[in-house]
Amino acid sequence: MSEDNSEHSRIRTGGCLCEGVRYRTVGDLRDVINCFCSQCRKTTGHHFAATSCSLDRFELLQESTLHWYVSSSKARRGFCNRCGSSLFWQRNGADYISITAGTLDKPTGLKTTSNIFVEDMGDYHDLPVVEHQ
Ligand SMILES: [Zn+2]
Ligand SMILES: [Zn+2]
Repeated sequence: MSEDNSEHSRIRTGGCLCEGVRYRTVGDLRDVINCFCSQCRKTTGHHFAATSCSLDRFELLQESTLHWYVSSSKARRGFCNRCGSSLFWQRNGADYISITAGTLDKPTGLKTTSNIFVEDMGDYHDLPVVEHQ
């Protein structure tokens, strides 16, 4: 086996606007899913575009302004209490964390693969959202 320089060892970094929250991930990330549910719409101001990473490959590098909001009985949402950036979604007890794709430093190498809860989309959307496979 040669040295693993592939996706399995790729390090990505990201964070909020004010850099009070910084994180890094190691290895493969799930492709991006857009969620249009009303909770995601309210917390982001539009829709939630997120990748996902298992917790054992996720590390917070800086979390001085990270705050968790219990958004339902099933999950909590992580945001920066200084700049307001919406960063994370975590289901109770899950071994993975959803990360807003827009907080990743470029290039992410990711692509958007699906849209969920499109029936809850804000009625101001002027573009049809295509359901991807
Ligand atoms: Zn911030
Ligand atoms: Zn949602």
